[in-house]
Amino acid sequence: MKKSTFPQSGIPLFGILFIIILSGIIMAQEKQLAWDLYNSYESFKEKSLENRRFKYSDIVPLIEQLQNKNIFKVDKVGKSIEGRDIYLISLGTGKTKVFLWSQMHGDEPTATAALFDIFNLFLDDNAYPELKKFLLSNLSIYIIPMVNPDGAEVFQRRNIVEIDLNRDVVRLQTPEAKILKNVFDSLKADFGFNLHDQGRDYSAGSSFNPASISFLAPSPDYEKSLTAPREKAMKLIGNMVNVLNEFIPGHIAKYSDDYEPRAFGDNFTKWGTGVVLLESGGWRGDREKQFLRKINYIAILSALSSIASNSYVNTDLSIYESIPHNEKFMMDFILRNLILKRDGKEYIIDIGINFEEVNFNGARDCYLKASIEDLGDLSVYSGYDEIDLSGYIIEPGKTKPEAYNSLDDLEKIIPVELYNQGYTNVLLIDGEFSGEYSNLPFNIIVGGKNELNGLIKPDAAANFIIRKNDEVKYVVVNGFLIDIEKVNDWSGNTIVYRK
Ligand SMILES: [Zn+2]
Repeated sequence: MKKSTFPQSGIPLFGILFIIILSGIIMAQEKQLAWDLYNSYESFKEKSLENRRFKYSDIVPLIEQLQNKNIFKVDKVGKSIEGRDIYLISLGTGKTKVFLWSQMHGDEPTATAALFDIFNLFLDDNAYPELKKFLLSNLSIYIIPMVNPDGAEVFQRRNIVEIDLNRDVVRLQTPEAKILKNVFDSLKADFGFNLHDQGRDYSAGSSFNPASISFLAPSPDYEKSLTAPREKAMKLIGNMVNVLNEFIPGHIAKYSDDYEPRAFGDNFTKWGTGVVLLESGGWRGDREKQFLRKINYIAILSALSSIASNSYVNTDLSIYESIPHNEKFMMDFILRNLILKRDGKEYIIDIGINFEEVNFNGARDCYLKASIEDLGDLSVYSGYDEIDLSGYIIEPGKTKPEAYNSLDDLEKIIPVELYNQGYTNVLLIDGEFSGEYSNLPFNIIVGGKNELNGLIKPDAAANFIIRKNDEVKYVVVNGFLIDIEKVNDWSGNTIVYRK
């Protein structure tokens, strides 16, 4: 479905050349703006939002301070099931309407934080005055920063009655979906930004890179028709990709364009808005996605600038078409080329481990729980972290059969002695001991029941003893690698199992 950027007739060659040169100059300017935003980001980053687990109560004071500034209009547009006001923030007086909404899935907050960084940019009178004047005179911008505050409260995808808002645009059973639909209907915006997070397991095509940002111009129907609003969104995405390639080349992917008749983006496209789905995925060394938050900040501001100047119109559709698809070739940690012994035979295996985040402290924090995702030849997968252990022998970490009486006793354990006996788990009798995880470098089983079956197989816990020449060199406890020479440098968490 490739279309020429230029009309087939009527423009002489020098006119076409002029447009190409002009497009190049504009793109260079847009990249320069993006770099300026990148370099000055720390001045505008909302420091009170430090990680992904902020709550509604953290953003309400930030929204209230916007009311003191004339350029913002703050409206309450309805309440969530648990009674939290949902806010719509408006700015600008231009004729092109842009509607952005974030966190309809409660545990997808990366773009939300970026929106507050963008508000800070607008709050600072001295920052980018020309850019802001340009945006505010050409655009009317409408933002719902947290569509699903009840889900955010417990850091879960769905709302508080377990309905996925992004499957409720037709049936409209939830107040949150109704609010989003009502605002959409009242605006009939030219552009919509549907802001989400996606799993860390997505890769950009079959590359060994995470899909750090994935885009989609959603389909308006099962035929995936290229309607005018969709084409507009594709061109805008192409423009955003050109800019983001300055910062995250090879880490951009495209979400599946299969039509989902119950989803907002698909229906909003059908109803005439050019919708950009933006999904923040993973980035190596950035589990809290603070770098991707910064990339969101740049992506959204660049897109607004491109809409205001109309520059996206000259972006060739081939850029959108050539974005690699989202694939699932990422794992959190891969151990390569280990020797597994079974019944006197040896097998060379890779082991892939993924971490699940388990909420605690009212979903303010999480600890990590590892399991084996897969084993065997994992050469098509890439790990956020990897280690080559060629020549090393792996065996499952066992549970020491003699139980300990108290936490004090556990703290006296010398980990290396435990590992040398093949153990990564200990038994604890103390029924008073509470907590679901520990920072000791071994798992704790409270109450005497051994949940850990000690097998290396998919879905099993990831606890291993790794030897070379009969000496323990590494252990893996709850998916965390420990170099036996540097046990004290270890930072991570293990699991407390109980009946
Ligand atoms: Zn989502």
